[in-house]
Amino acid sequence: AFNAAVAAAQPALNAFIVTTPDAALDAARRVDAARAAGQALGKMAGVPIGMKDLFATKGVQTTAASKILAGFTPEYESTVSQNLWNAGAGMLGKLNLDQFAMGSSNETSAFGNVISPWRRPNDTAPLAPGGSSGGSSAAIAARLCPAATGTDTGGSIRQPAAFTGIAGIKPTYGRCSRWGVVAFASSLDQAGPMARSVQDCAIMLEAMAGFDPKDSTSLDLPVPEWEAGLNPSMAGKRVGIPREYRLDGMDPDVAKSWDDGIAWLKDAGAEIVEVSLPHTKYALPTYYIIAPAEASSNLARYDGVRYGLRDLPDGAGLQDMYAATRAAGFGPEVKRRIMIGTYVLSAGFYDAYYTQAQKVRALIARDFELAFQHCDVILAPTAPTAAFALGEKSDDPLAMYLNDVFSVPASLAGLPAMSVPAGLDRQGLPLGLQVIGQAFDEQGVLNAGLALE
Ligand code: GLN
Repeated sequence: AFNAAVAAAQPALNAFIVTTPDAALDAARRVDAARAAGQALGKMAGVPIGMKDLFATKGVQTTAASKILAGFTPEYESTVSQNLWNAGAGMLGKLNLDQFAMGSSNETSAFGNVISPWRRPNDTAPLAPGGSSGGSSAAIAARLCPAATGTDTGGSIRQPAAFTGIAGIKPTYGRCSRWGVVAFASSLDQAGPMARSVQDCAIMLEAMAGFDPKDSTSLDLPVPEWEAGLNPSMAGKRVGIPREYRLDGMDPDVAKSWDDGIAWLKDAGAEIVEVSLPHTKYALPTYYIIAPAEASSNLARYDGVRYGLRDLPDGAGLQDMYAATRAAGFGPEVKRRIMIGTYVLSAGFYDAYYTQAQKVRALIARDFELAFQHCDVILAPTAPTAAFALGEKSDDPLAMYLNDVFSVPASLAGLPAMSVPAGLDRQGLPLGLQVIGQAFDEQGVLNAGLALE
């Protein structure tokens, strides 16, 4: 039934890059056989999921939504996807995304943008599903799959979840292995689950997470039983409200949903405290230096030799092949990031930009450490607005980057953060609330999420 729904919705939503109906059926058969044989079933037994096309999947093309990976079929499986298959999940297909996960609307994909299943009333303008995990968010919101993988470098799980009325958690940096995940900004990239409920996120995160010696930044910690630990009571918990997130001219619907969230957590027994994160205003510029810097280094590997596309003009030498392949293969946003990254890392500007950004990143992390001396979790909006229309910001990179204002600080600090659905705005579009937790405290984040749900 899910395979049929995926196929039927493809023309309207463009959520998938490839579909793998046989893989989904095979997984279901394996679960049936295990059940018949009386074997123990995994946490995800029989659950058909979508896989963001940033995860390498053995024998199934993996594109990162870029032409430069055209024709690339990995010989290996990412650790996170393998963990999910080991837990009994099956793959419906590879989900569309912003090219190399760079974007907030899914419009940078080389396979065409994803279209959100949501619409404003009396308005046919197609809306952005958020990004970069917009194929994941659209597919779940449209009920094409109960859950999907996402990755979050500066908000790419949380913002699309908020735009489409679903839940998603970015765990502590290092919880999920980055091995076999196409790299964007390695010190920020984290995989996580997206699903309809907090409980489903807890189940799926348990299956995805775990130490992996193949990722040098993987956390060598046991995976907690997050699902069993779910508890919506906030009695004895302090919830911090960061003063600096109350922006001048804030969208009144977003401000109201934040106030609603505060009231819901109070009802659940929490004590509300104001906290300060004084370096918040530097988070966006810091992120848009560090992420492109790391991207420019990571994307140097796409040279026409090792992966996918090769553009070798007649009589061309090696340098010409690099240039032609990269010119033809990378989309405009990816090229913009490579140029910004190369600039901030260049000898004359390294100290002025990159070194400064690293220092500010440490201050932002310290802000959170100090704030968590006064509270257990922090509550904030996920994004400054509800979903915007496709095309509304695509000609203005800065306007697009500004949409990430509430999501990048937790990324820079490596902290777990979740978006949960928090009602609708006056136009009937979903809004999300964000819970940010202390390092390793996914349980506290999930529990606050459950209290909001
Ligand atoms: N929108 C942010 C960016 O474009 C975040 C993307 C992400 O988290 N992958 O970089």
